[in-house]
Amino acid sequence: MQFIDLKAQYEQVKIRIDKRISAVLAHGQYILGPEVSELEYQLAEYVGVKHVITCANGTDALQIALMTLGVGQGDAVIVPTFTFFASAEVIALTGATPIFIDSDPDTFNVSVEKLEATIEHVHTKSELNLKAIMAVDLFGQPADYPNINQIAKKHNLKVIEDAAQGFGGQIGTQKAGSFADIATTSFFPAKPLGCYGDGGAVFTNNDEYAELMRSIRVHGKGVDKYDNIRIGLNSRLDTIQAAVLLEKLAIFPQELKRRNEIALLYTKLFMDKPEIKAPVCKNGYTSSWAQYTLLAKNTRRTILQQRAKNQNIPTAVYYATCMHQQTVFKGLKSGDFDFSVAENIAKRCFSLPMHPYLTDADVKRVAESILSD
Ligand SMILES: *Cc1c(COP(=O)(O)O)cnc(C)c1O
Repeated sequence: MQFIDLKAQYEQVKIRIDKRISAVLAHGQYILGPEVSELEYQLAEYVGVKHVITCANGTDALQIALMTLGVGQGDAVIVPTFTFFASAEVIALTGATPIFIDSDPDTFNVSVEKLEATIEHVHTKSELNLKAIMAVDLFGQPADYPNINQIAKKHNLKVIEDAAQGFGGQIGTQKAGSFADIATTSFFPAKPLGCYGDGGAVFTNNDEYAELMRSIRVHGKGVDKYDNIRIGLNSRLDTIQAAVLLEKLAIFPQELKRRNEIALLYTKLFMDKPEIKAPVCKNGYTSSWAQYTLLAKNTRRTILQQRAKNQNIPTAVYYATCMHQQTVFKGLKSGDFDFSVAENIAKRCFSLPMHPYLTDADVKRVAESILSD
């Protein structure tokens, strides 16, 4: 059994993807070819935003978003301490200071309860200019944007949605990628919508931001490609990757449906089991289930993972280390915040095989292995 089975997916779309790639090889526009604009158009339609600009990867997408909001030296951005390193990394990369925040014990996303206190702390205890909140749609579930946006507005802060794992998630009928001033995603192969290499995108409804982001992605170009009017990046999505993504996007809704069926079945099997807490998807929220992540009781994680391993079932820990515990961030003065929820999750979490090509029998086999003594 694969943790994420990209081969099984390729078998489903092989003929169409091979044909798409051949078409790119035939027309030869390898960089920003017609498939890239076709993909940007289709992604905008799918997510329901005005502008989509693809780029080289999800980390660059976050950097482009921060550069567009003018985040740099002397600024601060709030980011969950329990996330993938890139979310915090890019804030430091711009010269700004990441301000870590604890997690919600049920969703593992940013703690909305602790948000106001964190904002207050930066305002009163530091010289930093707090510019934005970066929320992360961890494991596929959108963060609590109705509340995050309201608090951000009150304090005049911008919101960035890191939907690297969240593409396909929803709050009500509204799709991930549309909840913030700027949203980003990643097309890394293992993400819910992945290509066959690196890729990413930024999403916005703001015309001004969109123009800036198009410029930043190509060396800060002006109207003329060789007139550079700002410092930017070289961060384009390859045409071949866009071609792959067009075919994968076509089957994405049915894959998403299957991911949700699998998650529901897992949760049914893990419900009320004393050694385990199944993940919680909030009422009205839809997850894209980038990961199906359990919490082991107390210190049982290694034992439960070993049980799966004994049956040749792969599991993984995302993430054992919070951002405030990362070596590189140890010197950071991020206040005397309480990260107890995130630290507890990091000690207990582990993720199970999750991809749309698992059968119900596979899911049952995984659950039985974890639950068997
Ligand atoms: C994967 C990921 C990224 C970075 O995406 P890349 O395409 O690998 O650069 C950023 N944030 C989160 C939450 C991620 O999971």
